[in-house]
Amino acid sequence: LAFLVLACLVCGYLTRRYFDRRMTLATDMRKGMRNGEFHLVYQPLVELGTGAFSGVEALLRWNHPSAGPIRPDLFIPVAEENGLIVELTRHVFALAAADLRTLGLPPHAHLGLNVCAQHMARTDFVDDVEALLRRIEGLGPITLVLEVTERAALPDSEVVRANMRRLRERGVQWAIDDFGTGHSSLAYIEQLEADFLKIDRAFVNSVGTDAVSAVVLETIITLARKLDLRMVAEGVETARQSAFLRAHGVQFGQGYYYGRPMRARDLGAWRQAFVLDPPGKDGAPLVA
Ligand code: C2E
Ligand code: MG
Ligand code: MG
Ligand code: MG
Repeated sequence: LAFLVLACLVCGYLTRRYFDRRMTLATDMRKGMRNGEFHLVYQPLVELGTGAFSGVEALLRWNHPSAGPIRPDLFIPVAEENGLIVELTRHVFALAAADLRTLGLPPHAHLGLNVCAQHMARTDFVDDVEALLRRIEGLGPITLVLEVTERAALPDSEVVRANMRRLRERGVQWAIDDFGTGHSSLAYIEQLEADFLKIDRAFVNSVGTDAVSAVVLETIITLARKLDLRMVAEGVETARQSAFLRAHGVQFGQGYYYGRPMRARDLGAWRQAFVLDPPGKDGAPLVA
């Protein structure tokens, strides 16, 4: 019995600590937005056929005053749980708008932003995106691509459909993020009428290492081609993966092999220096 009581006490303590921590994180996030602790980094997307720069995805970073950098994988789920994600996404939109001039995106470049289902199901979602579109319009024809992760179930609601339709009419494009990791892949494609499939890096990593995942990767590619969806391979880290994807008709790549997520001010220098498959890089053939 003593053991049982002790076990209960320990469990209770741990659960409380867990929830306390989540509460603290939410409070800190609010404070962090006010105090400018968040910033965006931008990861380039490359057109695999030509090596041309095609745009960027914005990724959120939080520099916590005492805990240091906290990964989005950690704080985004907490923000989703307590509804703070809507405020946080508006903050992201504002940060992206403020970075636009510095980014200096060329005409028709893509600007990718991650949005969540919770926000898309709200009637004010379109207003939030339109506020950003107005800021973008001042800077030339840039395509806003909204990424929705396949991991979270998107409510099949009339509001979501209407929001998506209205934004599509305004030129917004849609991408299914982390494709292949969720449980509703096919339903998602139907529901979203997406323009892009972002192939999760778990499958990209499998090139040349994991035969089963490689089969899944080839199946995803075949599916996307049949459905006339453009593909973005994420998490490309090697010349071999890049070559495989290009050979299989994947149109866009994103990953450390091409460029790491970077501050807006560093994108210009990256674009100046970027060459797809420079000789000698990560086993790319050295041609005299
Ligand atoms: P995601 O949207 O799938 O973003 C891609 C993630 O892969 C990023 O992680 C990026 O830094 C990482 N990555 C890119 N290339 C490589 C590579 O070659 N190798 C490896 N190992 N990783 C690579 P990050 O920045 O830590 O973001 C993690 C996730 O957090 C994102 O996954 C996205 O789901 C979420 N997230 C980030 N920013 C936001 C945001 O502003 N709003 C929302 N709702 N979610 C966000
Ligand atoms: Mg994304
Ligand atoms: Mg992604
Ligand atoms: Mg991913």
